Amino acid sequence: MTESSFDATHPPERELLDDCVHCGFCLPTCPTYQLWGEEMDSPRGRIYLMDLAERGEIELEGAFTEHIDACLGCMACVTSCPSGVQYDRLLEATRPQIERNVPRQRSDKLFRDGIFALFPYRRRLRAAAILGLAYQKLGLSKVAEKVLPPRLAAAQALLPPVRLRSAFAKLPRRVRARTPVRRRVALLSGCVQDVFFHDVNVATQRVLAAEGCEVLTPREQGCCGALGLHAGRADHATARAKDTIATFEKLPVDDIVVNVAGCGSSMKEYGALLADDPEWARRAAAFSAKVKDISEVLADLSPVAERHPITAKVAYHDACHLGHAQGVRQAPRKVLRTIPGVDLVDLPEAELCCGSAGIYNMVQPEPAAELGERKAGNIRAVKPDLLVTANPGCLLQIRRYLGDEIPMLHPVQLLAASIEGRDIR
Ligand code: SF4
Ligand code: SF4
Repeated sequence: MTESSFDATHPPERELLDDCVHCGFCLPTCPTYQLWGEEMDSPRGRIYLMDLAERGEIELEGAFTEHIDACLGCMACVTSCPSGVQYDRLLEATRPQIERNVPRQRSDKLFRDGIFALFPYRRRLRAAAILGLAYQKLGLSKVAEKVLPPRLAAAQALLPPVRLRSAFAKLPRRVRARTPVRRRVALLSGCVQDVFFHDVNVATQRVLAAEGCEVLTPREQGCCGALGLHAGRADHATARAKDTIATFEKLPVDDIVVNVAGCGSSMKEYGALLADDPEWARRAAAFSAKVKDISEVLADLSPVAERHPITAKVAYHDACHLGHAQGVRQAPRKVLRTIPGVDLVDLPEAELCCGSAGIYNMVQPEPAAELGERKAGNIRAVKPDLLVTANPGCLLQIRRYLGDEIPMLHPVQLLAASIEGRDIR
């Protein structure tokens, strides 16, 4: 028997590979198959490549790595597969194999290392925000887009309008419920979210308090490891997961609330990530069982805070890591429908990723751009007054291709505006 091309550390499991019956039902929802029509850039083709590698019939370097790198990890194939193939587990077993065993070109490695040296660190992101503000004031963005290599051009074009007061603001550690306490929750404030989308965290605390939740937001929390987990950097993800568990498990709360789809999906996976670690397996499983997206918490609580009308056609974009990876689709819609006057509409091709996908729009800028343009076109087609989506990555990506023509918010910001009677436009 030929030896597997994977190393012995958690390779993709044979039983999971065998679950795929090659029916092709997943093909229409796969963004890379939609773009290129290439079998090896479809879920079925990638599972076939994993199968060949597991049998030792293809090496990891070369075509194998190219097709796996081109996958967005959007998990649309998991939603659409009638056979219950766990492509999420297959991909999360495969990517660390590539990171460990396939040497990357020097420039590729430097670029990826640069991303991981910046994004998980709030202090560094704040320093980047200062530079970003100067950069935007000098109007360098348009020039840079023309002269920089594609990856750097894509990364700088994603920078949102920087407001230093928000970037350096600190969230209160404890926010009391504004009604008799119904739940006690802890909030993950995130890295990019805390620095560039601080207002979303503020809105989250306010809405939870208005709905009768006491909210604890520990200052010492760090990155949850989501970017590393989804990119195959297993050591990074594991270390971050342990730190996050150690910070939150001390708190006497019912739920650990997340308002970033990508972070929520990785935190719900800590139990699986640390299942083999005798010291952490039980703690990780207990932690993951408490993690909820903000929309899940709010949908479970019958509303007590008065809503003021917001008369607007609101398009809801399902972030892949909320809809596909966590299966949370109805809760945000249910919450948004509690706002009088909101006409909630779905997008055409709603299942297709916008091209953000963690670090994908920086490391694979060309397909990400095509998907971003396509998503922007689908948003324009429904002529909304507003777009809402529950992931900062999606907001940055869509803003890049839609510009400022349609205001964009996190759903909890819209709800906060309704509860507080504020105008959102
Ligand atoms: S992943 Fe699922 S839907 Fe896609 S080919 Fe395999 S069995 Fe069919
Ligand atoms: S995760 Fe997304 S891009 Fe990757 S194979 Fe599945 S549908 Fe295609």
